[in-house]
Amino acid sequence: MATKRDYYEVLGVDKKATKEEIKKAYRKLAKKFHPDLNKDDPETAEEKFKEVSEAYEVLADEEKRKMYDAYGHAGIENSFGANGFNWNDFTHYRDISDIFGGMDDIFGGGGSIFDMFFGGSGRRGRRTGPVRGADLRYDIEISLETADQGLERIISVPRNVQCDKCYGTGAAEGTSPQNCQTCGGSGQVKNVQRRGYSQFISINACPSCRGQGQIIEKPCQKCNGAGKYKKTGKISIKIPPGSDTGTRLRLAGEGEAGSRGGPAGDLYIIIHVTHHPDFARDGRHLYTNTTISYPEAALGAEVEIQTLTGKASMKIPPGTQPGTILRLRGKGVNSLGGGGRGDLHVKVNVEVPKKMSKDEKRLLKELDRLKKKINK
Ligand SMILES: [Zn+2]
Ligand SMILES: [Zn+2]
Repeated sequence: MATKRDYYEVLGVDKKATKEEIKKAYRKLAKKFHPDLNKDDPETAEEKFKEVSEAYEVLADEEKRKMYDAYGHAGIENSFGANGFNWNDFTHYRDISDIFGGMDDIFGGGGSIFDMFFGGSGRRGRRTGPVRGADLRYDIEISLETADQGLERIISVPRNVQCDKCYGTGAAEGTSPQNCQTCGGSGQVKNVQRRGYSQFISINACPSCRGQGQIIEKPCQKCNGAGKYKKTGKISIKIPPGSDTGTRLRLAGEGEAGSRGGPAGDLYIIIHVTHHPDFARDGRHLYTNTTISYPEAALGAEVEIQTLTGKASMKIPPGTQPGTILRLRGKGVNSLGGGGRGDLHVKVNVEVPKKMSKDEKRLLKELDRLKKKINK
């Protein structure tokens, strides 16, 4: 299933993080994406800040967090409007108001401070400009053998694609969206209130166009005016040899469709390699065990070892001690990006027989006598 980024990942906290840890992580990120520090690229900073704020809105709320833990993004879908989280949904600005210079006081605790901060001041038309589509994440589980060899596969990703009937405008054929009369196309209405000597300004989404700045009189029938619709796309992916858990593939432009002419987001494929019963892995090296007999350990031998790709023979030197680790060069896992295979490290167990035949017992006793004679 393709989903939005995991909220815990967005905030960089553990799934078991306490409320305080979550708040601390959020405040740190809020500082990082502060518009004053991101004058070069305020759009990206706002997108990022919005993403972390959405994650915080959910994880700071016990109920929402419970729903999210149990059902993922689907569990909190109804907490936000049809277009997902927006700043009007954000209820925790008090937790960061000091970072933003006490906006709390300036705006009298009104709901839409961030719109003012990012959208309202200086950058007119932000709401009605192109918006990049959301990135998607697709988790894929593969075996160690597959991770070693690499794989090409077709995956199905449900996502919003741009409507091909209205080319994303949402307006019916032959018509186009009209500028909203109420807000003049800005998508915002300003409310000035005086209380004593103070002036309180709140900026809210325009009620006529719901903040879009444009009104669609005759919506496109195919997408109901949304400009996009859900469609499951077949996407060919190439998992490179040597992939490991946490390897990420980025497929540019394969995420959700953008709005108002904005580009599509990206699709991230996150690889998880399942546990193998016989091999442990550390990067390009593998670890395994083998058991040999007591005479093989003492006299040395040539034994057959199961490797990831087949069988290999391994020399046991005479006098090998239990627990010795022997190395088979080049029998590990392919290196990501080339560079050959790592090694297979084999831990040697020595079996002490529990049941023996008469002959075996006789020979071992003979050996025991011989040893004691030599040691004398
Ligand atoms: Zn359409
Ligand atoms: Zn309007």
